Amino acid sequence: MKFRFPILIIDEDFRSENSSGLGIRALAQAIEGEGAEVIGATGYGDLSQFAQQQSRASAFILSIDDEEFTAGGDEEPAIANLRDFIQEIRFKNSDIPIFLYGETRTSSHIPNDILRELHGFIHMFEDTPEFVARHILREARSYTAGLAPPFFRALVDYASDGSYSWHCPGHSGGVAFLKSPVGQMFHQFFGENMLRADVCNAVEELGQLLDHTGPVAASERNAARIFNADHCFFVTNGTSTSNKMVWHSAVASGDIVVVDRNCHKSILHSIIMTGAVPVFLTPTRNNLGLIGPIPLDEFRPENIQKKIDANPFAREAQAAHPDRKPRILTITQSTYDGIVYNVETLKEILDGQIDTLHFDEAWLPHATFHEFYRNMHAIGRDRPCCDNAMVFATHSTHKLLAGISQASQILVQESKTTKLDRHIFNEAYLMHTSTSPQYAIIASCDVAAAMMEPPGGTALVEESIAEAINFRRAMRKVDAEWGDDWWFEVWGPDEMAESGIGTQEDWILRADDNWHGFGNLAPGFNMLDPIKATVVTPGLNVRGQFAEAGIPASIVTRYLAEHGVIVEKTGLYSFFIMFTIGITKGRWNTLVSALQQFKDDYDKNIPMWKILPEFSQQFPMYEGIGLRDLCKQIHETYKAYDIARVTTEMYLSVMQPAMKPSDAYAMMTHREMDRVEIDDLEGRATAVLLTPYPPGIPLLIPGERFNKTIVEYLQFARMFNLKFPGFDTDIHGLVEENVDGVAKFYVDCVRTNN
Ligand SMILES: *Cc1c(COP(=O)(O)O)cnc(C)c1O
Repeated sequence: MKFRFPILIIDEDFRSENSSGLGIRALAQAIEGEGAEVIGATGYGDLSQFAQQQSRASAFILSIDDEEFTAGGDEEPAIANLRDFIQEIRFKNSDIPIFLYGETRTSSHIPNDILRELHGFIHMFEDTPEFVARHILREARSYTAGLAPPFFRALVDYASDGSYSWHCPGHSGGVAFLKSPVGQMFHQFFGENMLRADVCNAVEELGQLLDHTGPVAASERNAARIFNADHCFFVTNGTSTSNKMVWHSAVASGDIVVVDRNCHKSILHSIIMTGAVPVFLTPTRNNLGLIGPIPLDEFRPENIQKKIDANPFAREAQAAHPDRKPRILTITQSTYDGIVYNVETLKEILDGQIDTLHFDEAWLPHATFHEFYRNMHAIGRDRPCCDNAMVFATHSTHKLLAGISQASQILVQESKTTKLDRHIFNEAYLMHTSTSPQYAIIASCDVAAAMMEPPGGTALVEESIAEAINFRRAMRKVDAEWGDDWWFEVWGPDEMAESGIGTQEDWILRADDNWHGFGNLAPGFNMLDPIKATVVTPGLNVRGQFAEAGIPASIVTRYLAEHGVIVEKTGLYSFFIMFTIGITKGRWNTLVSALQQFKDDYDKNIPMWKILPEFSQQFPMYEGIGLRDLCKQIHETYKAYDIARVTTEMYLSVMQPAMKPSDAYAMMTHREMDRVEIDDLEGRATAVLLTPYPPGIPLLIPGERFNKTIVEYLQFARMFNLKFPGFDTDIHGLVEENVDGVAKFYVDCVRTNN
């Protein structure tokens, strides 16, 4: 496999007929003669624009005989320019070779801080171009040869090797696809390499994911080093699976576990699978429907004990084994909306009280690479370990880093007294891993980790933060220009750094700050990760008051979708986008201009058929309605039902467990359940997970009883979905049945004894 990494020559005279032009072109030719590619650029003025090429090039050659270098002054502008250029490259890339090239200059003209960063100083005419070319290429090739991390390297070698295989997968390196026309299409679309690299775990030279051997193990160790963890395990089925592995390694039936009520459904699945008895920590919520932090006091052991006392199943479990501590704590570290916790504070309170502290950092794999998030993530450099508690972090590599879908990892930090028994841990790992893992996913875990190695990773995180903050500044500028007229708001602190990225301090949630509406929070306990940007539409304030007019977010995101902008999550009056390391200025500028267009169409009340033609075709009832009128209709419906209050209260209400989640689930598998209509649900215990989208956070888990607020919410959703098809609230767990032409909605509940 030959990778393309040209050598970049920057010389003002690259195309000139003078002697330095002839000299540099002779060098370029000599390099090409050795089989390498050269890109020649005539760099005038600002060199730093070329620094971006660091990810594509294998070396830089910079000429320093340009006219700007004429003597005079204390430090010539050319030297300053050169220094900026080199600093910009080294900010992202500490290894790429940089050569200076001169006719009349010598190294004595160059200050030490620049010389230190160079791989060589080439004097034209002192050696033959061929000799110089070979010298440069040796450095360039040694640089590119060092790039690939262990597993990816082995996979590339294997796929390029051309040996025949008799093992699965049955498509034999893609050959099977070539035997049919539609297979041909598939092959042409995904390409030869993807299929050649799709190998089976019988291939010994690649190592085994399931036993963590060979190059796979080397790559996991490499990632552990980069993330500063004691252990790292790659997982090829998403953090949904990573979470289940962590749980199955630590939790058994009847164990008490302490869980964030705002957790991903994989944690609830883990509760069901292990047969654990959960007690829940309740996060705050504001009336925009945004989920805030769990208050610090909720974590205090005495409060956890109170929750155990209040729950008959937990009480019973504790009475049976009074010597056991809760087995695990799982919290969502970076909620959907970007709230994170100070992990050192949590360790202080919980070390010795709970055996395992598990941080579901699906959205936070970037944090360890930047000072900005100091202490606000689970595991990293200079982070002290607990005396007793083992710390786990699970990362969705694919959500914010450069991983392909399902790429995930588990990080472990051992305590002073407990080491991870890898053999025991692997029993849980095997329970959830396919015996045919997808090797492209493993390779992307490997590469994603290598990309994050400082300084490159730190620079990437810094860029994401900078873009996110620039987006916020741009939105405020538009707002200021509109004056009293309406515009969208990006949820976050009122004050931001004037320029640059500022510091963590700017993003700490302070007690009773108006902007967040989460009340009296403990000092320094939470921050908002600026790379998650929640855009708030007009119509509802943080206190839950509806304005006269309003713009439901679902209409905005539908509009954006037809304009090619897909957002991550939509709430009642908010939607959210994130600044991953893949985001670009062009992307967020497109969003800002699409929002401008929305405002224009809204203010002019343009009819739906004109602005959302596809959607109007699908739902003709909206065709003739103006955009503003439709917003008004939905807004007034929300307002009439006080739906912001209802959704907030239903998530904050105290849930009554009628049985252990795993027992309710067992009844479902045995079909000991009734299909109950919405209006009759109050007091019944659900057999299934009930999850409204948005926000996609489970509302009731198997075995919990419906209360009045939840029933009210379901009745609202039923009415709303009939009235505004196409803008439906999707509720997983709700069963729709057509009874004599009328849509009826049910939930499967566990059968009560009578
Ligand atoms: C997305 C997510 C998961 C699951 O991760 P996948 O990689 O999609 O399986 C787990 N926890 C949280 C908090 C998530 O947001």
